[in-house]
Amino acid sequence: MVGNVPVGGDAPITVQTMTNTLTHDVAATVAQIKACEAAGVDIVRVSCPDAESSAALKDIVKQVNVPIVADIHFHYKRGVEAAQNGAACLRINPGNIGSEERVKEVIKAARDYNCSIRIGVNAGSLERDLLEKYGEPCPDAMVESGLRHIKILQDLDFHNFKISCKASDVFMAVAAYQMLAEQTDCPIHLGITEAGGLRTGTVKSSIGIGSLLWAGIGDTIRVSLSADPVEEVKVGFEMLKALGLRHRGVNVIACPSCARQQFDVIKTVSTLEDRLAHITTPMTISVIGCVVNGPGEALMTDIGLTGGGKGTHQIYIGGQTAHRLREGDESIVDHLVKMVEEKAAEIDAKSKDKAA
Ligand code: SF4
Repeated sequence: MVGNVPVGGDAPITVQTMTNTLTHDVAATVAQIKACEAAGVDIVRVSCPDAESSAALKDIVKQVNVPIVADIHFHYKRGVEAAQNGAACLRINPGNIGSEERVKEVIKAARDYNCSIRIGVNAGSLERDLLEKYGEPCPDAMVESGLRHIKILQDLDFHNFKISCKASDVFMAVAAYQMLAEQTDCPIHLGITEAGGLRTGTVKSSIGIGSLLWAGIGDTIRVSLSADPVEEVKVGFEMLKALGLRHRGVNVIACPSCARQQFDVIKTVSTLEDRLAHITTPMTISVIGCVVNGPGEALMTDIGLTGGGKGTHQIYIGGQTAHRLREGDESIVDHLVKMVEEKAAEIDAKSKDKAA
């Protein structure tokens, strides 16, 4: 458990991100976490590089709804303070925080304050003896490091942990995770570390995290991007949606457009995605430029639009032809947003009735 969020077993795959504000700037950190919450994040990690940051956690956790993971490196005291101040999980490598006494102190704090632990192995910061043994960072070294940290926790009878084995190289990370999944059944946190900017990082993460998830490996994910954390959350969800593992918000199916388009598909889709960002109800809509693919795609969607001649487009509901939309009467975007909002309210009411 990370706070009230289950990780592992049959629990839904969770999406995480990490703040990039100064943690002790509580207002900025809370604002960033809130923005990520609006995008659907399940768990947020914050760095605790100094005592000021671990102290700030106390105020931060009070103001947010998602559980907070404290990112700790080297300083065992920050781990103890973070647990005391409301962190739901500590990202810490027990083998890297010094003497056994220190490790025990952190584990005791985690236990006392109901805090789980993420062991975070990273190809870039492997133990010296493993680098000497293997010559360079490699999947075997990463997994050996991970198992070593796991053993420390298990020997102290601490079992509320998960593990990650990240590398910036997609092949190395995937091989390490595959090996790790064969050797442990503890929950696995997936990530391609230092993956790059929005476009590069999304591609690398989709290949790495995506192929692992497809193979049934992984319980929680973080897409690392040199970009706004909200983008990490959005990309994480898109990945899960594409794999059919989680459904949240509107899945827009759209054609790339070409000379046959009967309206500006690219502009419409881009405005539409912004205008529909507040919808959390899972739903699919198709926005297709012409009759070549429009009617076919609409068959599989809740709401569909196919561009037609003379500014008159066809609207479908539940795959069935519904009505025509004449541009000028109302813009495509306004019309679709209204339809999606109504459909979302209808779906939500139905699921409430079912729950009752
Ligand atoms: S659906 Fe029509 S407009 Fe869209 S890419 Fe295909 S042919 Fe072009």
